[in-house]
Amino acid sequence: MSLRTRASELVDRARSAATGDRTKRLVEAFRRVRDGDPWFDKRGLDAIRRRPVDDGSIERRRRAQRYLGVAFVGLLAAALWYPLVAGVGVVGCAAAAVGVGAVRGRFYCNHLCPRGGLLDGYVRLFSRGKRTPDWFKHPLTRAAVGLTAAGLLGTGLYAAWRQDGSLGVPFLTMLGVSTLVAVVLGVVYHQRAWCQICPAGTLSHAVHRVAEGLGRDPAPRVEVDADACVSCGRCGTVCRQEIRPGQYADGEVTDHGNVFSPGGLEGSTREVDGVVDHADCLQCAACVEECPTDALSLDEE
Ligand code: SF4
Ligand code: SF4
Repeated sequence: MSLRTRASELVDRARSAATGDRTKRLVEAFRRVRDGDPWFDKRGLDAIRRRPVDDGSIERRRRAQRYLGVAFVGLLAAALWYPLVAGVGVVGCAAAAVGVGAVRGRFYCNHLCPRGGLLDGYVRLFSRGKRTPDWFKHPLTRAAVGLTAAGLLGTGLYAAWRQDGSLGVPFLTMLGVSTLVAVVLGVVYHQRAWCQICPAGTLSHAVHRVAEGLGRDPAPRVEVDADACVSCGRCGTVCRQEIRPGQYADGEVTDHGNVFSPGGLEGSTREVDGVVDHADCLQCAACVEECPTDALSLDEE
């Protein structure tokens, strides 16, 4: 359905239920879309915008991420003197990502990951904010990155064990190199580009899918009100996992990066029904905050 047809429908529907200032402003905005007004520029949308989850929780989370970023730099610095600290950090974070993944999907990656805090809190300031190519988040790319990381770490640990037993150095090397890659990707693409191929994130994604398959409740998911969505695409511009929540309103959606449903380079296509059931969703609510028509919601309980 075209944007204008959709806007026209919404004008009719909202008009019949028009009460309150906000509804009136929405009706006016939809009418301008229907009539071809270039309303879908940033100023027009901002004029009618409300922040449904602006209760301070997102700002608190961002502040926590900045602290996590500082903690991550501290951990790296400490590991230069005591390399085993890097080993504890890598093993601890990977175990936490997988453990939390079984229950809450990729919640860990947004709320608890120290490197994620560095990327969101600081690398974001230098990022070009570009989408990655589709092949980048393809399951085969993710598998290749995971196997390469495991292979290099395993080889390094074996060599260190044979030499002098200083097992911390291979962990420090892995942490340093992967962080450098994450920062470069964050600047060239967007701050969380690395998180689409991070081995711990991929494991978290996979474990959650398996847990769901075994009957566990899915993690909290963003829901889309198909009647309110006007397909403006803004939610997709703020999603750090390159998900386009508005496309999950109804009908078919094409996912890239679905580890158990790879499809070709063009991704895997499936039926959806108003729920963003993409296992890479970080449950960050950035899309909810961005949506100009309050079509998105995330129940975090
Ligand atoms: S969900 Fe909201 S932000 Fe996303 S496309 Fe629909 S109206 Fe736009
Ligand atoms: S909550 Fe929204 S913005 Fe955040 S990762 Fe999920 S789909 Fe993307």
